[in-house]
Amino acid sequence: MNYISTRSAAPLVSFTQMLLAGLAPDGGLYLPQAYPQLSQATIAGFAGRPYEEVAQAILTPFAAGEIEAGAFRSMIDAAYKNFRHKAIAPLTQLDSNLFVLELFHGPTLAFKDLAMQLLAKLIDHVLKARGERATIIGATSGDTGAAAIEAFRGLPQVDVFILYPHGRVSEVQRRQMTTVEAENIHIIAMEGTFDDAQACVKNMFNHKVLRDELNLCGVNSINLARILFQTVYYFTSAAVLGGPHRKISFVVPTGNFGDILAGWMAKRLGLPIDRLVIATNSNDILTRALASGGYAVQRVRPTQSPSMDIQVSSNFERLLFEAHGRDPGALCRLMAGLRQSQGFTIEPGPLHAIRAEFDAFSVTEVETTREIARSWREAGFLADPHTAVGMSAARQAKAHASRSPLVVLGTAHPAKFPAAIAHATGERPDLPGHLASLFERKEKFSILPNDQSGIERFIHARAARAASRAAL
Ligand SMILES: *Cc1c(COP(=O)(O)O)cnc(C)c1O
Repeated sequence: MNYISTRSAAPLVSFTQMLLAGLAPDGGLYLPQAYPQLSQATIAGFAGRPYEEVAQAILTPFAAGEIEAGAFRSMIDAAYKNFRHKAIAPLTQLDSNLFVLELFHGPTLAFKDLAMQLLAKLIDHVLKARGERATIIGATSGDTGAAAIEAFRGLPQVDVFILYPHGRVSEVQRRQMTTVEAENIHIIAMEGTFDDAQACVKNMFNHKVLRDELNLCGVNSINLARILFQTVYYFTSAAVLGGPHRKISFVVPTGNFGDILAGWMAKRLGLPIDRLVIATNSNDILTRALASGGYAVQRVRPTQSPSMDIQVSSNFERLLFEAHGRDPGALCRLMAGLRQSQGFTIEPGPLHAIRAEFDAFSVTEVETTREIARSWREAGFLADPHTAVGMSAARQAKAHASRSPLVVLGTAHPAKFPAAIAHATGERPDLPGHLASLFERKEKFSILPNDQSGIERFIHARAARAASRAAL
């Protein structure tokens, strides 16, 4: 399989090139050149099969010819070995037609583990085979950082630099990043918002000298491999609910648009999906864009669901590219508009195509708290604030139209956000055993100003030191 860029000056690349690069050299995002088709019989056969086996069936065509089948299966098995639930992504029923897909049983308690664990195994495998080192740089609104650190810690071929917005993540999220003792992990608390941190990382990838010298590798959801890996749980959950013979709707708590884009891709691969519902908190750029066609960046508002406190949803670029009939010229114009005037207008044709598959609802802080209390009271289910945004949006979607079963993606474990849960329910969810001592562990991180060249100098110096250590 080859991969193309949404801005397309870049040549076609292979799976491993896409995997290691993250961002395309022209600043665009990678997409598969074509979507392999899974037959309805194949999808029906996923019912009752282990998650690992389904993952192998879905993902093999994307890496075919580059990753040997047996090695790939071993990496998949290793990636999901440390999950606390045998089903990896179990489904819980809350109401007659409402389900939660629990994606928080991995080591860092958020859905990011499902893709990041496998991404780390693959990157390690490819770097070892090539005898190369790489520098992983990622921006995080809280959960990606922890997932990346957990997945890559102690790997000799990689140094990991994680930027997070100082003071804008929950204490559990921060401690999950800052208390990991590993020489190859470097945590930067940047004075700014998540969008500032993400822009800083993107600029580094567009800085050719730095990019080549440090062999930069991106693990944000700009890395297509993560999105591909996330398609798997759409299939496993649909199979449990009678897919492909019955269409399912998915409601996805959304920030950077990665998780819901994986649902859209699952549909392209052949999974019958009814509606894809975007759930946003009060950072509602996507809800406004679907309603009016105007994609207009506003100030980021801090909420109880910090992993969705995002205004520039990077992966929306991929959907726009598809909705414009894969026209890179159109995307270059839109993205130039975004740079120059913090927004753009989606033309009627592409907007119509997007609305044909997606709905979007935003949820206020009050509604989020009310939803956490309600699902605890009515179903005995403790929803973290991100999942609660999804559940509240699901109620809006139900009132609107959808008759098909609604699956809300449960994106984080409630114990990651104890203050919000206690406020809404009076309950204090316990951290799972492996994190019980989190609040006693020593923290290590560097606070840096929002200054591109200062951050680049910091990373350069640390990475050079690590490389010389490795060469000894
Ligand atoms: C990352 C994250 C989201 C948003 O996912 P995107 O792929 O960025 O849209 C939602 N909830 C939680 C808990 C997350 O960590």
